[in-house]
Amino acid sequence: MHLHEYQAKTLFADYAVPVPAGRLARSAEEAAAAAAELGGGRWVVKAQVHAGGRGKAGGVRLVDSVDDVRRSAGEMLGSHLQTRQTGSPGLPIGCVLVEATVAIERELYLSLLVDRARERVMIMASRSGGMDIEEVAASDPRAIVNEAVHPAVGLQPYQWRNLGFALGLQGEQIKAFGQLLSGLYRLFEREDASLVEINPLVVTATGELLALDAKLDIEDNALYRHPALVALRDPSQEDDKERAAAEHDLNYITLEGNIACMVNGAGLAMATMDLIKLHGGEPANFLDVGGGATAARVAEAFKLILSDAKVSAILVNIFGGIVRCDLIAEGIIQAVPEVGVSLPVVVRLEGTNVDRGKALLAASGLNLIAADGLSDAADKVVAAAGGGNGKPAPVRA
Ligand code: GDP
Ligand code: MN
Repeated sequence: MHLHEYQAKTLFADYAVPVPAGRLARSAEEAAAAAAELGGGRWVVKAQVHAGGRGKAGGVRLVDSVDDVRRSAGEMLGSHLQTRQTGSPGLPIGCVLVEATVAIERELYLSLLVDRARERVMIMASRSGGMDIEEVAASDPRAIVNEAVHPAVGLQPYQWRNLGFALGLQGEQIKAFGQLLSGLYRLFEREDASLVEINPLVVTATGELLALDAKLDIEDNALYRHPALVALRDPSQEDDKERAAAEHDLNYITLEGNIACMVNGAGLAMATMDLIKLHGGEPANFLDVGGGATAARVAEAFKLILSDAKVSAILVNIFGGIVRCDLIAEGIIQAVPEVGVSLPVVVRLEGTNVDRGKALLAASGLNLIAADGLSDAADKVVAAAGGGNGKPAPVRA
C-alpha cells in the first residue's frame, strides 16, 4: 500500500526523522491559512498524489506570497496531475501539502528496501539526489552505495558511517545522519514497510539534514497488524480495475494487449501470457483467480476482463488441482450469460474431473471454443483475436 507524502512525513516525525514544517490543505483557503501560520515568506505547494516526478509535471510549486499559495492550491486541487509515473489523465489531487521552504545546499538520495535475494533490508544512498535514481543507476552505477542490514544484529554504526562518508557528510552531520537512518530503519521494521525513499534528502544552507520528499510503501501482507495505517488508505489514488479485483481476492494487472486471460495460479498465469506471446498475440492482463475459484469469482473475473475495452478474445486456462474442473465449468456456464460475454472465449481445462467439465461446457449451448493443451489454446485464442501481431511465428522444436 502506498502512502501520501504528508502521511509518510508524519510517520517520519514520529521516528525522529527531520522533516520541514508543513500543513495539509484540502481547499485554497486552507492552503493560504496554512502558509500564514507557517510564516517565512516563501512556501512550496505540493500536490499529494501516489506518484513521483511531480516536480517536473508542475505538481511542486515554489511561491513567494500567501496569495500565490492560494492560487497554486486552487489550480491544483480538483485537477489531475500527470507525471512520468502515471498514465493519462493522471491522478486526482484531493489535497496539497504546504511547507515553509528551506535553503538547499545539496540534494542527496536515500532509500531502504527489501533485497529479497539476500533476505535483508538494503539501504541505498547517493550524492545524486533530486534526480531519477533509475537514470543514475544506468548512467553512473558507482554513484550509488549500499549496505545490507542483518536482521538479527540490526543497523550497525559502521554502516551509517560508511554511507554518511560516501554522501560527503562531515563531523556532526555524520552523527545526525546516523540518528536519521536509525529512525528510518526502526520505522521500516516496526511498520512493515516495503520501501522508504527520500529523494531528495537535503543538506540545508545551515548544514542540517532534512527529508524534503518522502515515499513510503507498506507491505500489503502485513496490513492486518497495522489498522492505523490501513485507515490512511486513499482509494482515489488506486486503479479502479485493480481495486475491484482486490475486493474479490483476484490478482489482476492491466497490460497493453487485446487477449484477456483468466487463469488459476500465478505461475500458470505467467506461463499463459508467455504462450500467448509465443503464438504471436499480446496479453491484455494478468489474472489469477486463485485456487478456490467459485462461480461468483469467475463471474467477477469476466466482468473485470470485459471492463477493458481493448479486449477482443478471452482465454480461460484452468488446471483443476484443488479446484474441480466441473465446478469451473459450472462457473463459466453461469457467468457467461449473466455478464453478457459476447467475445470469443477459448477454454482449456485440465485436471480433476476434466471430462465432466468438458461435457458440461459442450452441452451448455454456449459459444465456447474448446482447446486441448496449451499450444492449441494459444493458437485458437490468437486466431479468435484476429490473428497475430504481425511478427513471424517463432520456430518450434
Ligand atoms: P517529486 O518531483 O514528486 O519527487 O517531488 P519532490 O518533493 O522531490 O520535489 C521536487 C523538487 O522540488 C525537489 O527535488 C527540490 O529541488 C524542489 N523542492 C521541493 N521542496 C523544496 C523547498 O522547500 N525548497 C526548495 N528550494 N526546493 C524545493
Ligand atoms: Mn522526489
